[in-house]
Amino acid sequence: MPEGHTIHRLARLHGERFAGSPVRAWSPQGRFAAGAGEIDGRVLLETAAHGKHLFYRFDDERLLYVHLGLIGKFRTFGPDAPDPTHTTRLALANDRATAYLIGPMSCRLVVAGEADEIVGALGPDPLRRGRRGAAEFAARLRRRRLPVGVALLDQRVVAGIGNVYRAEILFLEGIHPETPANTVDEESAARLWETTVVQLRLGLRSGRIVTVDPREVGAHRRSQLTKDERLYVYHRDGLPCRRCGTPIRRTEMGGRAIWWCPTDQPR
Ligand SMILES: [Zn+2]
Repeated sequence: MPEGHTIHRLARLHGERFAGSPVRAWSPQGRFAAGAGEIDGRVLLETAAHGKHLFYRFDDERLLYVHLGLIGKFRTFGPDAPDPTHTTRLALANDRATAYLIGPMSCRLVVAGEADEIVGALGPDPLRRGRRGAAEFAARLRRRRLPVGVALLDQRVVAGIGNVYRAEILFLEGIHPETPANTVDEESAARLWETTVVQLRLGLRSGRIVTVDPREVGAHRRSQLTKDERLYVYHRDGLPCRRCGTPIRRTEMGGRAIWWCPTDQPR
């Protein structure tokens, strides 16, 4: 599932490519034909990302709302894009670029009030709030008795974290995923937020999730790490922890798998 950094990158990319001029919109699949027809030819004013939610605001105040969900994908091309496949829910194009949206959980036009409701229900977004979001995050964490590993996926606690970041951030902070959220002390919650901000900003910049400190695997830069070196625990069950050698464990939590190091993340 795309995590917050991917959605922010898409908002930025589509803002750069499409904002400020009329955009052609259509639905090759047909399922969004009416909605696409309403925005076809309108000028896109701006794009915005809130956690995993994407918004496109057009010149007549029409708002396109997209949530990629688990399998959704946006593919963006320059001026010579291939033809869209028949599964393309929405196609956006101008002279410079084309984007195809496939398999989203949501793709619809919303009124401003609905957008406010969607955004209002979210916890702080580390990529929007930065360090200023710490107190709100801590307060929302304190109100939940469920395991912190589950709480981090709850978009009302923090907006934008997905399955990779939740496992990696808990490892980086040495917190066992089953620790009840309301027992994470103030200092740990502050550090957890700080790490979340730092990691998502790195992801936003590079477009990929690399949490491993390159020095720990004998490299100088994050960009030098191979695919197998980029993460500490995610999908590494049975493999030795990069820091202590203990085999990484895997459990189901909140309906999704999570990985952790029993030594570095004691209960
Ligand atoms: Zn370890």
